[in-house]
Amino acid sequence: MTESIERLIRDVPDFPKPGILFKDITPLLQDPAGFRETIDILVNRYAGQNIEKVVGIDARGFIFAGAMAYQMGCGMGLVRKQGKLPWETRAQTYELEYGTNTVEIHTDTVTEGERIVIVDDLLATGGTMGAAVDLLQGAGAHIVEAAFIVELDFLKGRDKLSTEVFSLLHY
Ligand code: AMP
Repeated sequence: MTESIERLIRDVPDFPKPGILFKDITPLLQDPAGFRETIDILVNRYAGQNIEKVVGIDARGFIFAGAMAYQMGCGMGLVRKQGKLPWETRAQTYELEYGTNTVEIHTDTVTEGERIVIVDDLLATGGTMGAAVDLLQGAGAHIVEAAFIVELDFLKGRDKLSTEVFSLLHY
């Protein structure tokens, strides 16, 4: 079932820098059946779990989270890169190989006890999702799961996450 999705993930060597094998999801997005199947798998996974909000991570996570939220009949929240959100924010900084990165949410993104799923396209080292989890848990959300299209198993990102983790594809 996921083989047809896997065929739509394009490997781009040395992007954005030498030594990185970039997993490009744009062929998947451009394929009507593949995109629909991807969203259907995720939506079916969370059916009956009383999910109240799907939170997407800037930027490719938004694509999947938006489609899921629409189909699941729930709201969508945003975890954004620093400086993009116009209102009151809460920020979390995390370590990169060189330097740090910061993500933000609006302080009203989730309510106390709200059941959410967080979605991003890819789990690598887990820094980004770890920061998102800290922010949303800190804001009182009940994180049912962190969901990804692709997980790079060898980077062991899931070990950094205190939540349940689901990925459609593993490399
Ligand atoms: P990390 O914080 O290391 O788990 O990195 C995850 C974030 O970086 C996600 O938002 C991904 O979109 C992006 N990312 C990291 N590594 C890759 C890769 N090899 N291919 C595509 N996207 C990547």
